[in-house]
Amino acid sequence: MTGLWETRREKILRLLKESDTPLSAEQISLLLELDRKDVYDDLKHIARSLQKSEWQLVMVPPRCLKCGYVFSSDKPKKPSRCPKCRGERVSDPLFKVVSR
Ligand SMILES: [Zn+2]
Repeated sequence: MTGLWETRREKILRLLKESDTPLSAEQISLLLELDRKDVYDDLKHIARSLQKSEWQLVMVPPRCLKCGYVFSSDKPKKPSRCPKCRGERVSDPLFKVVSR
């Protein structure tokens, strides 16, 4: 079981290193045929595991599509609603792995 998880995270890591543009969890799940809710979990682990490496997981933060509010959290998850206007249409956070 452990081996399987590592393989998934390695795949995500490689995809995010090789991609020219930042990707959403949705895109990652489609490209690698993974469950989207697992992708956020994997991204958290990847961010942690890269902390002492030459690589870094960067996130384009989600934004409210109604009022333009940009979410400040750097945690890899999609917020459900805007704290400012309560709007529920929020853009997906995008992810990329870059060298420091
Ligand atoms: Zn808003």
